[in-house]
Amino acid sequence: MKKYLLLWDIDGTLVTTGKAGEIAMAQSTERAFGIKSDLSKVDFRGRTDTWIGMQLFKQLGLEPTPEHLHEFHEAYLSCLKEQLPLNHGKIFPGILEILEQAANRENCVNALLTGNLARGAELKLSHYSVWHYFEFGAFSDDSPVRNELGPVALKRALEKTGQPFSPENVYIIGDTPHDIACGKAIGAKTISVATGGYSKEELLGHEPTAYFDDFSHPEKFFELLGR
Ligand SMILES: [Mg+2]
Repeated sequence: MKKYLLLWDIDGTLVTTGKAGEIAMAQSTERAFGIKSDLSKVDFRGRTDTWIGMQLFKQLGLEPTPEHLHEFHEAYLSCLKEQLPLNHGKIFPGILEILEQAANRENCVNALLTGNLARGAELKLSHYSVWHYFEFGAFSDDSPVRNELGPVALKRALEKTGQPFSPENVYIIGDTPHDIACGKAIGAKTISVATGGYSKEELLGHEPTAYFDDFSHPEKFFELLGR
């Protein structure tokens, strides 16, 4: 049986945290080092948490040493934990149905390919009660560069399922051009969705395999598989 690997982005694709993630990120240099940074000067959409941290370090003239990154990540995670219940986030339309159906199909595997730190991904997705859908993932902990996360996800898929996935059976699902680029980097199929802020025109300009305004019609998502 042909098996499909669904590699999901988190922010703007599965959920919006109602700015909890951004607020936590903006607070974290002050919590870690006592210095404020300006997150509004960083285009963080589709980037990894570590990459964003390194841009903030540049602003502050801080070296991105492993110790500084560790402090920054710990501060971010503690801010994120506080912010998630204070902001009005949500799961996007159709996502629960798609995750549930995919989990029940023998030919689909749900996993994550996200710029979040693994612990940040767990905090966010546990908050919205969908963390249990994902068997494994590739995270910012694996590389600060999103395009390097595809090979990590494929390697982990083989380890966890005992099965190699050829790229034509892998779908990278995300809301930014960076998600499309990281899918193309491994020859995977790419599904773009406009729930994260990038417009239809912007996303189509990067030629994803498929495009959705949102996932409010889950059957259309499943019609795509295997095409
Ligand atoms: Mg995203």
